[in-house]
Amino acid sequence: MSRYTPGSVPDRLAHNMYEVDEGNPHIEVHQDIARATGTGRLLVKVCPAHVYSEEPDGTISVEYAACLECGTCLAVAAPGALTWHYPASAMGIVFREG
Ligand code: SF4
Repeated sequence: MSRYTPGSVPDRLAHNMYEVDEGNPHIEVHQDIARATGTGRLLVKVCPAHVYSEEPDGTISVEYAACLECGTCLAVAAPGALTWHYPASAMGIVFREG
């Protein structure tokens, strides 16, 4: 009888595939509101895929192609600070392990 032993989280995530909808981001940060409410820095902290990063001028950059579609950013963003929707059909992440 074999026993399944999962790898590390980064190893398991590496099995996923991404169908990137080039030029059609599914995430937009509304910079003024994000800055005023502190949402920008919160997004940087909570995203497990490091989609968000803070530039030296305080602008929040978005690397939407890496999104895991977990919804965490939506749960913490102040109203109006973030527009997020699922990528178009058949686009986005393709999970290989759960
Ligand atoms: S849905 Fe999850 S992975 Fe995607 S940007 Fe938001 S927190 Fe990051």
